[in-house]
Amino acid sequence: MTVTRFAPSPTGLLHAGNLRTAVLNWLMARKLGGRFILRIDDTDSERSEERFVDAIRRDLDWLGLHWDAEVRQSARLDLYAAAADRLRAAGRLYDCYETAAELDLRRKVQLSRHLPPVYDRAALGLGDAERARLRAEGRAPHWRFLLEREAVEWDDLIRGPERVEAASLSDPVLIREDAQVLYTLASVVDDADLGVTHVIRGADHVTNTGTQIQIFAALGAAAPAFGHHSLLVGPEGEGLSKRLGSLSVAALREAGVEPMAVVSFLARLGSSHPVEVATDMAALVEGFEIGSFGASPTRFDPEELAAHSAKTLRALPFDDVRKRLEYIGVETKLTPDFWTAVGPNLDRMADAFEWWAICRDGAEAVVAPEDAEFVAQALTLLPPRPWGADTWKAWTDTVKAATGRKGRALFLPLRRALTGRDHGPEMAALMPLLAPPRLTDAARGGREGA
Ligand code: GLU
Repeated sequence: MTVTRFAPSPTGLLHAGNLRTAVLNWLMARKLGGRFILRIDDTDSERSEERFVDAIRRDLDWLGLHWDAEVRQSARLDLYAAAADRLRAAGRLYDCYETAAELDLRRKVQLSRHLPPVYDRAALGLGDAERARLRAEGRAPHWRFLLEREAVEWDDLIRGPERVEAASLSDPVLIREDAQVLYTLASVVDDADLGVTHVIRGADHVTNTGTQIQIFAALGAAAPAFGHHSLLVGPEGEGLSKRLGSLSVAALREAGVEPMAVVSFLARLGSSHPVEVATDMAALVEGFEIGSFGASPTRFDPEELAAHSAKTLRALPFDDVRKRLEYIGVETKLTPDFWTAVGPNLDRMADAFEWWAICRDGAEAVVAPEDAEFVAQALTLLPPRPWGADTWKAWTDTVKAATGRKGRALFLPLRRALTGRDHGPEMAALMPLLAPPRLTDAARGGREGA
């Protein structure tokens, strides 16, 4: 059974970069008929916040990335302690007493001698008496995993044959001096315990994977398959970090970006498959292929996403629109006709509500002073309601004949008078749905009874 997981640390809002990880793991699980686990990596109690846990759930929910189970690392500390005991018993976890300042100094000396800044394993040489002395001094140990000094190799689902030279790495700290278990160990214990079969994560984790594969082996557990996706960069190739705020999932939602567009965009971006408008998840799952993703940095352009979102919105079937509006509790008697007329013109769903209000209540007419007389005359020629599909053409033909105006000078003031706006859906399609405009004195151009 395929099991994947998305493992955010609740130390901030989800953004496009880590959301991509969520999307790929979700697709992988659904494609292979497996389970998708949400794992909250909250062992760092100082930096983890409950409001971010809530935000993560809300974001995934909004995007339709439903999870089959949720686990929290803070509730699994006993498992990590037991695993640490096993590593200690196997001689793979050793206590170290250096302070951060001491380690820093040692690194500087190594660098000045052009040596790699790798931990020298000095603590392995400590005798029992020295250990006892250090502890008596009040030093609490941190614990390092003893790496096998050999190359770790795996067939990466995205990058192909991958190799990390463990001899060039420092033995990773798995437990801090304040006894906090670090992600490197907790993640391995969880992946093994939860039967995770595939781990898709960012390329910034490649080195971690090298050490974690050794930890799996030391714990006698099978390592999952790993795939490391490229990191996202901005439109000019710059790192995304500066702009993370504006790219948070919450910000996308507030900007009215379609959730389906976010998912379909991230589901294909950086792969050899084009980004396509999708209106349901099944199509995305169907076409998902982890091997189609490339290893080089992937350009993420928020404007491309916005354009993709508008296309996605316009392609939504009316039934989906109605469900969405009902879901958010908007009072609606939206009809398929309304969506046919208005949908193709929208950039954001929120604009649909405004058009709905205009259709129901009529717009406040906008009339430029120089058009006042023209509009007043045109409105007297407006046929009585109900208006039909031919009304716009018939009316504008009549107005044209009566006033001699044509083109933009004819159409724009009439559109403004009826909708209060310069742009919008095709007037011919809109007319049958529109309530008559509300005329202010200014709009009447001072002429009573227009
Ligand atoms: N909490 C880790 C992170 O957000 C999880 C990495 C992983 O997927 O193993 O980077």
